[in-house]
Amino acid sequence: MKLYIFILLGLLAVSLNAKDQSSIDLHIVPHTHNDLGWLFSVASYYLGTNPRGCVECILNNVTQALYKDPNRRFSYVEMGYFRIWWSKQSTDSKNKVKQLVRNGQLEFLNSGVVMSDEGAAYYDDIIEQMTKGLKFVKDVFNYTVQTGWHIDPFGHSAAQASLFSQMGFNSWFFERIDFQDFNNRIIHKNLELLWRPKTFSDFNYILAHVNYMSYYLAPFNWCLDMTCYPSNTPFDSMQLMFKYATWVQNQTNFYLSNQILHHVGGDFEWSHKANRHFQGLQFVIDFLSAHSEFGIKPFFSTPSNYTEALYGEFLANRTKPLTLKEDDFMSYVDVPHAYWTGYYTSRANFKQQIRTFGQHLQTIRKILSKTLLEKPTQFNQTFKDFEENLNQYEEINGILQHHDAVTGTAKVKVTQNYINMITCATSDINLVRFLFIDRTYLYRYSQILLETLQKMS
Ligand SMILES: [Zn+2]
Repeated sequence: MKLYIFILLGLLAVSLNAKDQSSIDLHIVPHTHNDLGWLFSVASYYLGTNPRGCVECILNNVTQALYKDPNRRFSYVEMGYFRIWWSKQSTDSKNKVKQLVRNGQLEFLNSGVVMSDEGAAYYDDIIEQMTKGLKFVKDVFNYTVQTGWHIDPFGHSAAQASLFSQMGFNSWFFERIDFQDFNNRIIHKNLELLWRPKTFSDFNYILAHVNYMSYYLAPFNWCLDMTCYPSNTPFDSMQLMFKYATWVQNQTNFYLSNQILHHVGGDFEWSHKANRHFQGLQFVIDFLSAHSEFGIKPFFSTPSNYTEALYGEFLANRTKPLTLKEDDFMSYVDVPHAYWTGYYTSRANFKQQIRTFGQHLQTIRKILSKTLLEKPTQFNQTFKDFEENLNQYEEINGILQHHDAVTGTAKVKVTQNYINMITCATSDINLVRFLFIDRTYLYRYSQILLETLQKMS
């Protein structure tokens, strides 16, 4: 994977030819964005007991639609939800989903518990929540995630770019950058760039892709679901098809290559009638394919397919070199005078609870590691009791890094729900802590844990 980076670095020093605009590869990328709490709680979003979204419905409907046609593709991000859904599947269903992953029809992006925030979340906690999800994907599917996908967090940090690079990701897709920076990048075709944060290592590089719309919804109110009325579909009119073709052609003015990515979806979209939506997109594919005068070759795709094709263009010297970036895409300003900076400090007490929750996790983990090294027999005997509570604690720690949790942008009732999670997970882990850590070390470490707990109360 990292081979790509060396290829890119080599290309930066070379003057290359302008691209051939005769043919556009249009990557149609169906996706959904599922917040782990925002206007409604995690449980409500999962079960669909709200007018906004139903994650269980999305995963049920989309997988059924994927089975019907091997050309269809779908990308999914939030392992906090996926893991719940997975635990409820039959063996037969699990085998079929594994086949979708092997076929490349179902692609995992990011694959942390959540799509984390980048301004208020601490780096320890970001690594934790990513590790939790990535390990699940690797263990269950033997799948190595290669793509970052942060379409909703409120600004993007060089630290996150560095972390994703060190996680082995080849590319990273996002949307929300300062509107003036965005406008400048449109003019200079810099919406794709090579991000090289200033870190201790010279080898932290990642290909970054800023979406053309500066937000992740489909164009022309082209909504796919009940969550985004008014809805229109590709079936509606031939006029819409011509408008869409022109819009796709215009994208080549913003990017260096002839690879164009159009992601189709939004918050909790694809909850209903997934098969019909795929049929609608197939209509678009068939229409554009039949009208060669547009010079567009459309197909279902995924971000990693897109990245691979893009690197192919770099290798074939069909583009100009990418520009370099070293600093942050912070603070986020979407329109004049609208600075998304209040969330850095809002709900300060809640932020402190989350930070201490993460510290407590690190403290417990260090003591566990020490036990494993010094008293392996005792570790194996009692860790089973501890493991379930620790897993739950790690999962909650992941949820808290969500870009509507630690940021403080969720509704009050949802934030109260997060606080309840903190209280319950802490209580549960302390029950076994008394059995395990205190007994093992004769209370040597109790004082350390007590101090972190006092901070949380
Ligand atoms: Zn979101």
